[in-house]
Amino acid sequence: MNIQKTISSFELEQKNQQEQLATNNIDITLEQSFSKNKPLETFLKHACYPILMSAVALTIFCGFYFSIDFGLCNITFLFCTIIYLAICERFIPYKKEWHPNAKEWRRDGIYLFMTMMGGASSVAAIFYIASLVPPLDANIPLWLEIVLTLLLTSLGTYVFHRASHELPWLWRFHGIHHATHKVNVGNNALNHIFDVFGRRLLAQLPMALIGISPPALFVVSVFNIAQGYFSHANVDVKLGWLNYWVGSPEQHRLHHSVDITEAGHYSVDITIWDRLFNSYFWQPGRKPIEIGVRKPNTFPLSNDIFKNLIHPFRKKKYYSQVPEKNKFEWRFWPRLFVISSALITAALVMSLT
Ligand SMILES: [Zn+2]
Repeated sequence: MNIQKTISSFELEQKNQQEQLATNNIDITLEQSFSKNKPLETFLKHACYPILMSAVALTIFCGFYFSIDFGLCNITFLFCTIIYLAICERFIPYKKEWHPNAKEWRRDGIYLFMTMMGGASSVAAIFYIASLVPPLDANIPLWLEIVLTLLLTSLGTYVFHRASHELPWLWRFHGIHHATHKVNVGNNALNHIFDVFGRRLLAQLPMALIGISPPALFVVSVFNIAQGYFSHANVDVKLGWLNYWVGSPEQHRLHHSVDITEAGHYSVDITIWDRLFNSYFWQPGRKPIEIGVRKPNTFPLSNDIFKNLIHPFRKKKYYSQVPEKNKFEWRFWPRLFVISSALITAALVMSLT
């Protein structure tokens, strides 16, 4: 009787397993037929980033070969990148709820204008400082200038961005960018004008003082525009091993997480500084818990542009996004000092020889 019972329970278990297997197979078949029926989506998921990087190469080539004004190349590339990624977002969204509506597009257009004004003001300030302190003449090969510019601008941006999350008086400006609950290509430009000014100034002033040539600055700026908007795009792409070298939407979504333990990833260009200073948390498939700021009621609604403009100057008790225990640790300060000194010294030595 007991043997009979055991046999029938074994048969039942086997039957259940077969049913489960059949269901799984149906799921896999459905998924395969779904991707077969959507070849454009499947193609875009794989080709979104390679197409963008090809556009970077093409823009740089055209800039040099046809001697087009670098500023004109940059601005044309910026708008083409936004349009391209907005189209990709429609076909391969990470989250459909993150699509901007018409009102948000208009709002983000105004923020984009302010972001560009912040960038232009930082360039004006750099020119002014360079007129007071005559820049050196970097006499080094172009490829070396490009590598140096990439590393130094990335380090400057990393330091300013990280400080903006950890210091309350800077977070009051940068938090405006994080107060939204969507991450898409449109709201990448949702910034306070002074936040953009400070970040660009810190990133670009050393280049101007060292005397890095306009061609090297052009190459790095085109790459950085592509990386900045791509990382912020609401696209379902997976870069795989490239995530260990360059910024991506997979990492930057985590940067916008309210959970501080996963919200590092301060760089959107190259990941070297995040990895060196312990703020690299990406793992394959990891998704942010929730998007936004730690204390949501401390910032105005993103749609109220004027309130956001004056918000950092209103007298209020401020906090930082990163609690004390998660801030930059003292053991990293010597590393930061040695690396930045080495890079600047290398640039100075090379420009003087
Ligand atoms: Zn941030």
